[in-house]
This record gives sequence, C-alpha cells and structure tokens, in this order.
Amino acid sequence: MEIKLRFFGAAQNVTGSCYLIEANDTRILVDCGLYQERDLKTRNWDPLPVPADSLHAVLLTHAHLDHCGRIPKLVKEGFTGPIYATAATADIAKIIMLDSAHIQEEDIKHKLKRHEREGRSSPFPYEALYTTEDAENAIKLFQNAPYEQEVKIADGITAAFFEAGHIFGSSSIKLNITQGDETRTLLFSGDVGRWDVPIIRDPAVIGAADYVLVESTYGDRDHKPVADIPDALADVVNRTVERGGNIVIPSFAVERTQELLFHLSNLLEEGRIPHLLSFVDSPMAVRVTEVFKRHSELFDDDTNEMLQRGQHPCDFPGLEMSRSVDQSKAIKDVQSSAIIIAGSGMCTGGRIKHHLKNNITDPNSTILFVGYQAVGTLGRLILEGLDEIRIHGEKWPVNAAIERIEGFSAHADRNELIRWLDGMGSAPKKVFVVHGETDAAHAFAEKITAEKGWPVHVPAYDEEVILD
Ligand SMILES: [Zn+2]
Repeated sequence: MEIKLRFFGAAQNVTGSCYLIEANDTRILVDCGLYQERDLKTRNWDPLPVPADSLHAVLLTHAHLDHCGRIPKLVKEGFTGPIYATAATADIAKIIMLDSAHIQEEDIKHKLKRHEREGRSSPFPYEALYTTEDAENAIKLFQNAPYEQEVKIADGITAAFFEAGHIFGSSSIKLNITQGDETRTLLFSGDVGRWDVPIIRDPAVIGAADYVLVESTYGDRDHKPVADIPDALADVVNRTVERGGNIVIPSFAVERTQELLFHLSNLLEEGRIPHLLSFVDSPMAVRVTEVFKRHSELFDDDTNEMLQRGQHPCDFPGLEMSRSVDQSKAIKDVQSSAIIIAGSGMCTGGRIKHHLKNNITDPNSTILFVGYQAVGTLGRLILEGLDEIRIHGEKWPVNAAIERIEGFSAHADRNELIRWLDGMGSAPKKVFVVHGETDAAHAFAEKITAEKGWPVHVPAYDEEVILD
C-alpha cells in the first residue's frame, strides 16, 4: 500500500483545514478552508502543493469558513472536479462562500482606496483572493453525499459521511482506499460536536479505521458544566422585560442563532417568557435558518417530538426574519421590549452595530453574549466592561446591562473527543492530532497516549506522511 497524506492546513492551528491524499493515481482534498488567524492569513495566498486542476475531488466535512473558504480559490485556479458534501453542508457552504467572496471583493476595494489616500503601494496585486463569480462556479460543482452511504470517488476509493454533531450537516468522513487485495481506511473527524445539544443529532459511532485525523480545538480543556441555558435565558429576558428594555444578542449565523431560536421557542411554549416581538436581523442567519427548515430529516429525536407537537425549533409566534435594510431599520421603532438577534457574533461588523448604538446607552436594555469573543473585538471590549465604546467613529457610553450565558459550544471538549475516539472500537495504526493550537494538540496527544495507548503524531504544517 502506498498512500500519501499531506497536512496543508489546520496543523498546529485551528483554521485553514486542508488535507491532501494521494493514492491510486488520484489526488483528493478533504476540506479547503480559509485561514482566519491574523498571523496566518497570508497562507491563503500560497499556492497549493499540487496544481488545482490535478485534483480529482474535494470532500467537505462541513460549511464553516475555515473548512470551505478556499474552495472558490481552488476553482479560480482551475479545479473542475466534484465537491462531495451532505446536502445541508452544500446548502450552507454556498451561503458562506458567497458571503466570503463579497468580503474579499470589498476588502480589496478598501485596501486600494486606503493605499491611494496614503500614497502607498502594495507588493501584492490589488486582486481579490476570489470573486463572487468564482464562488458561483464552485457552487455548481457540489454533489450530494448522503449520510452513511458509500460514494465512489475514484477507482478503488470510496467515501462515507457520518454525523459529526458539530453544526447542521456536519460530518466525519471515512475514506476507503483499496490497492490490489488490500484496503486501508482513513477517518477524518472534521469538527466534532457535543452530545445532547439542541436540534442536531449526536456524533455518530463510526467504528474502526486504520488511520484517524482527530481535531483538538479544545484538546486541553474541559468545558464548564453546561449551565442551564434555558433558565439563564429566561432570567435575562424576564429581567429586561421588567425594565422595559430590549435584549440584543450578537450571534453567529450558523447554529448559534438556530439554537437560540430553539430555546426561545421552548420557553415561550412553556410560558416561561412573555410573548415578545423577536427579530433575526442578519440576512445570512435568515438564509441559514431556511436551510434548517428544508432539512428537518436531520433533526434529533427531541426536535422531531417538538415538530409533532406542532412547534417549530426555528420559528414561533412573534418572530420576524428581517432581510432588507428597511426591515432592519424599522426594528428601532418597536415600542415594546423586543429580542434582537443580529450578526456579527463578535460585533465586528454587520447589523449588530446599529442595534448596539440604539440600545447600549439605555440602562433598561441588555446586551447578551452567547459566544466566544476574541481578543480585540468590539464584543470583547464590551464584555470587559468598558464605560464607553466606539462604533462607526462615534463614542457611546455603555449603560445597558451586559450579560453572558456560557455553555454554548459547537466543539467537543477533551473528554468528549475521547468519547468520539471510543467509537472506533479498536486501536488504529496511528492517530494524527490536528485542528488545534500547538499546546492543545500536544496535550490531547498525551491524553490519547495515557488513556488509550494508541500511537499518536502531531503533524506540522505542510508535513507529508506515507501510510502503508
Ligand atoms: Zn467548524
């Protein structure tokens, strides 16, 4: 057997997922994501280790930008093969890639303007990483890979996609490679989710594989015990309604927004919060929520029961999906208390900034954080308790209540990652620990050695290994 595996992303870092497999005269990528860490962003411009038009197929684990965000670049460079993904992943990835293309186009325009103003010139061409047209061309290449069915990728190579429980449509991918009368199985974890979270199913038990690549985002950590999210949410809503203010929630468009809607739908049904006007004010979140509604076959048992009761996890009376700018602007005219969910999740852009301006000076309103806020983001500054913040060039005093609910996470912690590995049943020939910062990846490798005694390796960026 000879299989080459090259780690071209998410090796001792957490973004830019990209793994190249060469076997049976075929080149396959698993994921082709965008680098998002500030220090690593220039890698987005690096050429792939092999020409894009020499690739046979791309297999996509899930629709997050750090997994699909370089696919349009691949297409721009000449890739014309199939992109296999679950139907829900394809639907969400399309939204994410088009949005990313728009951002790339805007970024380059702003950069050009700034450089003209400052009389500078860049050593790099003023060209977007890729354009909307490249993203649209990528969208045409998607092919459906239903869960738990073998898809033929090339001679002697099949793939099967399994529920990863991370975001809607997410999967772990098992690749079977046959040469002569021998077969090897490579299992790519993708991002592993958690058990018993709303709407999506638990990570699947996949069984044995010869080689496994496992993510380690939280490989050195245990999540805080999941606080009782519905209780906390009801408490924040009710206290704010008593004061007569609004609840403004910065939220990510994929998964977190729908999880919030699920909890709000239940709280309303149980009479634990009053009927309020509620808004999802993010065109991307609105489109992603529509994907959820189209793929109810992927809901977990609890969510199916909810549907049978006539209740929808992503919809309830009084909920409005605001698409247009006019709809968004009209929200500030609502007289009674309202719940406003808007992007971006870390307040770095999007419509949330307008809602912050309209509410952050009001002591009756609440700004509620439900996700991670990276250092330096506006969300982080608010959470750190600044008295005054700057939005759109103006200063705004922070008078609103600032709250946070912990316990939302789309990633397994180290014990849940071990639980996922338990699903393999027997020891693989080797475990490659990927998709984690260097410390987290090494800590998780040590944990695997200690708990399971399996051979582990933490690959470096661009490292190539030969699998036999
Ligand atoms: Zn992810």
